[in-house]
Amino acid sequence: MLTELAPGILYVAEEFGAAAHLCACGCGAIVRTPLDPTEWSLEETAKGPSLSPSIGNWQEACQSHYWIEGGEVIWAPEWSSRQIAAGRRSEQERRVRYYNDIDRKQPTILRRLWDRFKSALGMS
Ligand SMILES: [Zn+2]
Repeated sequence: MLTELAPGILYVAEEFGAAAHLCACGCGAIVRTPLDPTEWSLEETAKGPSLSPSIGNWQEACQSHYWIEGGEVIWAPEWSSRQIAAGRRSEQERRVRYYNDIDRKQPTILRRLWDRFKSALGMS
């Protein structure tokens, strides 16, 4: 595991399905973003990585909110606590939709877990 992160770099551990970076405001907080259809998705572009949805560090003192797009940090306007609550609600709805989808797509999910397991064993 990584013990020290450098600012401005998005670290991706594909085998663990996770990415991490230091908060873009410079406060030093480590921001972990699980890469999962219910969490964040990572896209490699010619200019750099894009993460979606946005990063909202509500649990940190800085309350930073930004996007990482094409390797760049795009700052969001400050959210009111009402907007934060609304954002959390839509996240919740997205999760529910995803888990409903799983019921219909069992074989795909099983295969993906197996791939991850194989790579953990160094078989692929
Ligand atoms: Zn910060």
